[in-house]
Amino acid sequence: MSKPSLWAIPLGGLGEFGMNMMALRTGDDIIVIDAGMMFPEAELLGVDIVIPDITYLKQHRDMVRAIVLTHGHEDHIGALPYILRELRVPVFGTRFTLALVRKRLEEHGLLDKTELRDVIPGRHAEIGPFDIEFIHVTHSTIDCVALAIRTPVGVVIHTGDYKMDPTPIDGEPFDLHAFARYGQEGVLALFSDSTNTERPGYTLSERAVWNRIEELLRAAPRKVVFSCFASSIHRIQQVVSIAALVGRKVGFVGRSMVDNVEIAHGLSRLEIPDGIVVRPQDIRSFDPKKLVVLVSGSQAEPMSSLSRIAVDNHRLLSVDQEDTVILSARIIPGNEKAIFRMLDHMFRRRALVYYDDSGGTLHVSGHASQEEEKLILNLVRPRYFIPIHGEFRQLFRHAALAQRMGSVSGEVLLLEDGQPIEFTEDGAAHRREPVPAGRVCVDSGSLEEIEEVVIRDRQHLAEDGIVVPIIAIDKHTGRMESRPEMVTRGFLPSEDGAELLASARDVILRTIEESNAQEKSDWGVIKEKIRVDLKRFLNKQTSKRPLILPVILEV
Ligand SMILES: [Zn+2]
Ligand SMILES: [Zn+2]
Repeated sequence: MSKPSLWAIPLGGLGEFGMNMMALRTGDDIIVIDAGMMFPEAELLGVDIVIPDITYLKQHRDMVRAIVLTHGHEDHIGALPYILRELRVPVFGTRFTLALVRKRLEEHGLLDKTELRDVIPGRHAEIGPFDIEFIHVTHSTIDCVALAIRTPVGVVIHTGDYKMDPTPIDGEPFDLHAFARYGQEGVLALFSDSTNTERPGYTLSERAVWNRIEELLRAAPRKVVFSCFASSIHRIQQVVSIAALVGRKVGFVGRSMVDNVEIAHGLSRLEIPDGIVVRPQDIRSFDPKKLVVLVSGSQAEPMSSLSRIAVDNHRLLSVDQEDTVILSARIIPGNEKAIFRMLDHMFRRRALVYYDDSGGTLHVSGHASQEEEKLILNLVRPRYFIPIHGEFRQLFRHAALAQRMGSVSGEVLLLEDGQPIEFTEDGAAHRREPVPAGRVCVDSGSLEEIEEVVIRDRQHLAEDGIVVPIIAIDKHTGRMESRPEMVTRGFLPSEDGAELLASARDVILRTIEESNAQEKSDWGVIKEKIRVDLKRFLNKQTSKRPLILPVILEV
């Protein structure tokens, strides 16, 4: 029998923001930690979500024993519906996390087919040769855990997302003790969240937003429209509690807001005083001086409630003069334009708009800053340290921080997606051959994978338009019937357009003329030659790269 070893195979989230996923393998057993998605950058036209490439898992599908979730954020659970179609394996997570997963799987018709297993912080689960303890950590949502995984070659710790909130809203403390306990015992490897590694000091407690929110709710002359991430249960709890304190009632608007509030309340994780909730259909007629409405859509997602309210196109709610609008969320890079466009609409209606910390803290991060990262390192004192969850510079700086501290007895390892590391019985770590990894673009309606070439085509279409040369040939003789036709969309129908298209026709004629007899007998070849020649010609004349789709009509 071969000697035991442990492979850690990062499949997502190392080198980018989002789609977190890592596989651990020992012998013929694999567990997968998290299955996240990320939202596409604007240039990925028509792509709804981006998920990790799971080729490696598909190649070893018989070995995959389970997916283990750290918490319920999209960048940790969003790829599940897609991945569970490929791999029928049980999913482990805390109650709130699995409640969110359940909702998602139901929408995709996968709920009956999936085994979901509740885990409780402080308890263990045995999955094949892995023994996992779930360690409670604080973060911007509830029921978050780190994982301490006992393997045949030692204990590894995966922090999930965390910050060390000394005064958590739900009273559930960060379990420092567990980290210390494992540190004492000896930890082979620590995988730690790098999201905020560029921030010095400590991240503020979630409680830090209370004063500012209370101040704004007290001062608001009319109703308050408050938007935060629907998963920010701590934030929602504070708004509900403050509303009760200042004598306002609370409404909830937006599907994800309503769903998450229901789920958290159902699990007794959100305290809502009796009689404080205003039904959605009563919001419009309710006394605005006595109302705060929690709305989802803080990132100005196109169809979200807040976006629709901003353009006064929402059934339940509108923002009027003197209403207060509070955006209590990080403006995620890439969303700035959409968010500020949305806020501008609110300003136009003469609402009182608050979206930054200029008058007091309106938002705090859920991720650890440098001092917290140091504390984890000092408690765990691992043999190997591997920064996870971050763009490359963040991983790099987290690695440098660990390097400087000297609490890593072995080595700091900088890995990216698809770069496995093998820990062997003798305590050594070896970099292994890369495995397939990368981004897969998905159309969320069909859940079908969108190929890169399709995205490139869409980019061409959006930027440079489309040119369709139509060549009619005689079915019997194989000869061209007439001069080629040209149809264009989104591509210069300007003054000199006609002239350019006439020249383009000449290019096509020349291409056909200059082809040999064999080529002419294969219209597939001719199409490609026309495409290439036309592309070169149009690019030279206009410096644009329209999508060129030659069509051969047999008449
Ligand atoms: Zn995350
Ligand atoms: Zn998170």
